[in-house]
Amino acid sequence: MSDYFKPLPNITPHSKPFWDAAKEHRLLLPSCIHCGAVHMYFEPWCNACSGDGIEWKVLSGFGHIWANCRFHKVYFPGFQSVVPYNVAIVQLDEGPKMISNIVNLPNGTLNEMPIGMRVRTFFDHVTNDITLIKFESV
Ligand SMILES: [Zn+2]
Repeated sequence: MSDYFKPLPNITPHSKPFWDAAKEHRLLLPSCIHCGAVHMYFEPWCNACSGDGIEWKVLSGFGHIWANCRFHKVYFPGFQSVVPYNVAIVQLDEGPKMISNIVNLPNGTLNEMPIGMRVRTFFDHVTNDITLIKFESV
């Protein structure tokens, strides 16, 4: 898997539980210990209630497409062979929105990934250290 040339995330102490869980096929996000809001960022504070402190919550892995588009421009050399490719904002059932790709579509067109379509997590092991969270149709 050393021939992966697309950008990879920088794992920080705050995000490490998320990436470790992804390798184990679990979708884990921080949740506020005061109000229960689930966050798509990894800092230990809450933008819903301004409280400090999070706990990690295992999510269902289900959601729906909130927005979609096709990228035709090559912003990073590693994407040269895959343009055009789809990008979606998925709203998870627990609330947060996650930007990712919709995979396992026959042609990858927008018609195959309409807004509102139910999706579930797809774990893409791109390197020995990184498993990316993507989504597929339910
Ligand atoms: Zn809160």
